[in-house]
Amino acid sequence: MKNLFALLSFILFINCSPSEKLESQNFSESIKQEDLKKYLTYLASDELGGREPGEEGIELAAEYIKEKYISLGLRPIMDDGNSYFQEFTMHEKGRRKPFTKPMFLYDEDDRERHDYGYINTSNVIGMIEGTTYKNEYIVISAHYDHLGSRGSKIFYGADDNGSGVSALIEIAEAFSIAAKKEMQPKRNIVFVCFSAEEKGLIGSRYFVENAPIPIKHVVANLNIDMIGRNDNNSVHVIGSSIETSELDDIIKEANRKSVRLHLDYSMDSGQTPSSIFMRSDQYNFAKYGVPAVFFYGGHHSDYHKTSDTIDKIKFEILQKRSKLIFHTAWELATMDNRIDSEVN
Ligand SMILES: [Zn+2]
Repeated sequence: MKNLFALLSFILFINCSPSEKLESQNFSESIKQEDLKKYLTYLASDELGGREPGEEGIELAAEYIKEKYISLGLRPIMDDGNSYFQEFTMHEKGRRKPFTKPMFLYDEDDRERHDYGYINTSNVIGMIEGTTYKNEYIVISAHYDHLGSRGSKIFYGADDNGSGVSALIEIAEAFSIAAKKEMQPKRNIVFVCFSAEEKGLIGSRYFVENAPIPIKHVVANLNIDMIGRNDNNSVHVIGSSIETSELDDIIKEANRKSVRLHLDYSMDSGQTPSSIFMRSDQYNFAKYGVPAVFFYGGHHSDYHKTSDTIDKIKFEILQKRSKLIFHTAWELATMDNRIDSEVN
């Protein structure tokens, strides 16, 4: 029966009736390779020096993202709607040696107990308001920090995670264009660029523990980290069935009706978080029972090396993956019933 249904769906699909076209299809046309390249050229430049928290480069990156949010008409939600920055202070829990993994904690209260390693940094947050379900939120996220530089060597982090931030800006633009044409989403869409992911998922942890929106009202988190490499017409989808299979169903349906990538589940472990799922910011949402998915382009030999540069980014696949995430978010933001999870 199931196979018959699949066959019928396939026949319907190849006939491609107009109703099969996604409502979001037209707006996804604004997600362009040249735009992605423009953002990434700046984010992965010498000037930004590898975007390490505490350094000047990441402040420039934060300002750049903020300016994009403003130009797209995203609303600030921090400080009673006056700021795009969710600032926090973190400290090193141990002295830092290059290339070892220091432990970091965010911390505002016990400065006296430590005398070194304080770093101020910010998550960058903007929102497109929903028209109908005003208490519900879709969070689209990507970390914008990276490893900085050591001497004259810069860790550019073009794929990790300039690719994700560039995608997030293009997705925000697509929603913004739709909103201007009276096609606002029914649910709020919150765009978050996290800091200090590379220090141990600190920015996202700060976000969920000090959330500017009630975390129980977050319908889903779509997290993007490293989606600009491995142009094999596929994307890793990780964690989409942990809380509810509905999230995974929506991704599959959005994909089938749009870019038709191969959805790779080889790094997923069904209803339990896989080790790779725990290694980026979506994990902090999952800890709160929020349905969360990690979109990932896969490993490569330039990972966490100075050779993670823009010339190796495949903009065609970056564009396709960005479109898939946009269509998924659109469906989550416009469907009549919010997807199931243990928090609602
Ligand atoms: Zn990353």
